[in-house]
Amino acid sequence: MKFVVGNWKMNQNLEDIKKFFMGIDKLKFDLKCEAWIAPQAVHIPILKDLAFTLGKVKIGAQNCSEHDNGAFTGEVSASTLADMGVEFVIIGHSERRTIYKETDATINLKIKKALEKGLTVIFCIGETLTEREAGKTFDVLKTQITEGLKGIAISDSLLVAYEPVWAIGTGKTATPEQAEEAHAFVRAELKKLWGPDGAQIPILYGGSVKPSNFAELLMKPNIDGGLVGGASLKAEDFSGLCIAASQNL
Ligand code: PEP
Repeated sequence: MKFVVGNWKMNQNLEDIKKFFMGIDKLKFDLKCEAWIAPQAVHIPILKDLAFTLGKVKIGAQNCSEHDNGAFTGEVSASTLADMGVEFVIIGHSERRTIYKETDATINLKIKKALEKGLTVIFCIGETLTEREAGKTFDVLKTQITEGLKGIAISDSLLVAYEPVWAIGTGKTATPEQAEEAHAFVRAELKKLWGPDGAQIPILYGGSVKPSNFAELLMKPNIDGGLVGGASLKAEDFSGLCIAASQNL
C-alpha cells in the first residue's frame, strides 16, 4: 500500500474543510492506499468526525511537545493527541526546524514521546539547496537520521519523509531519479541502524508533489508515498493523488 499524507499546515477554514469532504464524498473513488491528513490541531475533532463518516481517512497532527505536561504555553502534548484519538504526528518538518529552530536533539525527544504515547510518527528529513549544491546531501541526511533516531528502537509506528527543503512549496519537485537516489540512501541508513527490519520502514517523498507528477515518483522502488502540502488542500487534487497511489500498489 502506498501512502498519501496531506499536511494542511496553517490552512483551511471550516468552510474549506466542509467543501473538501463534500468533494471527496462526491468523487467516490476506490481508495486502495493509505490516505492521511494533518489539519490544524483545533480542527482535529471535526476532521475525525468527517473522516469517520467517509470511512478510511486517518487524521493526525503536525507537531507535538517533547514534554509530558506543565508550563509550556501554546504546546500540545503527545498524550493529549492520543487521548483525542489522533493516530499520527508529523515531527521534524523543515518549517519547524527553520522557523521554530527545532534541533535534531529536540526532534529526537519528540519522536520518543510520541512513540511512547502510541502515536505513529512521520519523521521528516531533508537538505537545503545550499547543502545540496555543496555536495552535502548524504551527510545532512545521515546526521538527521543518526541524531533524530538516537536511542529509538525499531517500530512499526515509524515512517520517514524525505523532503528536500528546496522543493517544499516552491513548485520545484525533485526528479524521480534525485528522489530515488536519496530514498535509497535513507533506506540503507535505516538498515544499518536496525538491520533488515529497518529497511521495511516506509519512506515518503515530499516537495511539490502534485497529481501530475506523483505517479512517476511512485514508480521508483524506494518511494512508498508522498507527504503533500499545497496539493492536499483541494478534494480534486487529493483524490488525484489517492487515485495515483491506488493504481501503484
Ligand atoms: C510539505 O509541507 O511537507 C510539502 C511537501 O509541501 P508542498 O507539497 O506544498 O511542497
